[in-house]
Amino acid sequence: MTFRLYPNKQIEQSLRYHRKLHKDLFNAAVNNRFVQYQKFNHKVDYFEQQNSLPAFKEVWTEYKEVGSHALQATLKRVDFAFERWFKGLGKRPRFKSIRHYSGWTYPDSAGFKVESNGENGYLNLSKIGRIQMRGKAKYWGKPTTCTIVYRNGKWYASITVDVLEQVLNSNVLPVGAIGIDLGCKSALSITDGENHYSIDAPKFLRNAERKIKRASKEKRRKQAPNRKKKVKASRRWKKAQSKVSKLARQVANRRQNWVHQVAAEIVSGNSFVATEKLEVKNMTSKAKKGKRKKQKTGLNKSILDVGFGMLRSTIKYKVEQIGGVFIEVPTKKVKPSQTCPKCGHQHKKTLDVRVHECGVCGYVQDRDIAAAEVMLYWSKGTLPGFGTSLEDADVLSSTSSTSKKAGSMKQLGRAKRQKSTLTGLDVETSPSTK
Ligand SMILES: [Zn+2]
Repeated sequence: MTFRLYPNKQIEQSLRYHRKLHKDLFNAAVNNRFVQYQKFNHKVDYFEQQNSLPAFKEVWTEYKEVGSHALQATLKRVDFAFERWFKGLGKRPRFKSIRHYSGWTYPDSAGFKVESNGENGYLNLSKIGRIQMRGKAKYWGKPTTCTIVYRNGKWYASITVDVLEQVLNSNVLPVGAIGIDLGCKSALSITDGENHYSIDAPKFLRNAERKIKRASKEKRRKQAPNRKKKVKASRRWKKAQSKVSKLARQVANRRQNWVHQVAAEIVSGNSFVATEKLEVKNMTSKAKKGKRKKQKTGLNKSILDVGFGMLRSTIKYKVEQIGGVFIEVPTKKVKPSQTCPKCGHQHKKTLDVRVHECGVCGYVQDRDIAAAEVMLYWSKGTLPGFGTSLEDADVLSSTSSTSKKAGSMKQLGRAKRQKSTLTGLDVETSPSTK
C-alpha cells in the first residue's frame, strides 16, 4: 500500500538528509565488502556489518539519530544485492549516486507511526516529523513495515500491514488443508481433496508485459542520455521514460494487491498448505545453458513469473504468521504430475497431456488438480504407496516465537526479506535499479 507524502519544506529537507545518510551507509557497506575481499580475501557477511554498526556510529555521529533497525535494513539491502549477485540473479552491486537511491525502510514498528484507517492520514517518522499522506489501501490492519521512497521528485511511503491481525487475535486456526499446484503459465490449481478450483492470473498481469515492452521500444527510438559523450536526454526520451516507469509502477502495485488478495483468501480458510518445493538452482542453470538465456534471466524475467513467485512467498508468509503449516513437497522424489493421487501408480506424462487418466485405477482428473491432490495427500501421509514422509519435507511450521517480530537479528533479517518481497516496491519497480 503506497501513500503519497506531502512534507513541508523543513521536513522535506530532513527526508533528503536521511536519504543521503542511508545512501552513504549503503555505499560504505558495499565498499567494505569489496575492499575486505580484494585486500584480505575476507568475505564480509551481513552480521559482521551489523555488529560493526555501533562502532560506526561512534565515528559518524550523525547516524546516532537514525534508528538502528532502519540502518540494519539498509545493510540488509546490501546483503540482498550481494546474495542476488552470488546466485547469478543480479548484477555486481555498485555504488549508488543519490539520484539512484530510492530511500530506506523501517523493518518493524520502531521509528514510525501511522495515523490512518487505510485512507489518507498522517505518518510520524521519528527525528523527522509528522507528514500528511494521501492514498487509499484496499486492505488495512496493523502497520508492520514502512519504506520511504523518493521518486520523480515525489515522496512516498510504502506501508505493509498485518491484515491477519484479526485471525491472530481470535486464536482460532482455520481448519482447511489444501494442496496447491503452481501453474507455470496461467493458474493456481487448488484442492482440499473434495473441492477443486483454479485461480487465473488477472488479465492486466498477462497483458502488462506486452504493454511495457511496447513502451520501452518507443523509448529506445528516442535520444538517450550518455554522460561519457555528454549527450543529454531528449525531451521525448524523458517523456517516454516516465511512461515506462509509470507503467511498471502500476503493474507492481496492482500485482501486489492481487497477490495479497489471493493469499489472504487462501489463508482465511486454510492453515495447512502443501505445494511444490521451489527449485531455484535448477531454473537458473537451465537458463544459462539454453538459447533462451536472455528471456529467462535478468530484467526480462516475466512479470507473471514474478507474480507467481510473490504469491507463493506471500502465502507461505501468511500461513506461518497465523501459526499454520506450509509444506514444501520435494517434487523430485514425489513427482506430483506423474503420480496417481488415488492409487499411487506412477506413469510419465508429457507436458501437453492436460488430463490425468490412471491406467490402473481409472481415476480421471485435470492434470494440475491431480498434482495438487498428490501433494496434499503426500503431505498428510495418506498418499497410497508412500509412507508418512514428513521428515523429508521442509516443514515450516512456525512456532509462536518465530512468527512474532524480530526476536533475534537473524529472524529480523528473514522477516525483512520476506517483507521486502511483499513490499516489492523498490526492488521491483524503481527504474533506477536496472
Ligand atoms: Zn490410479
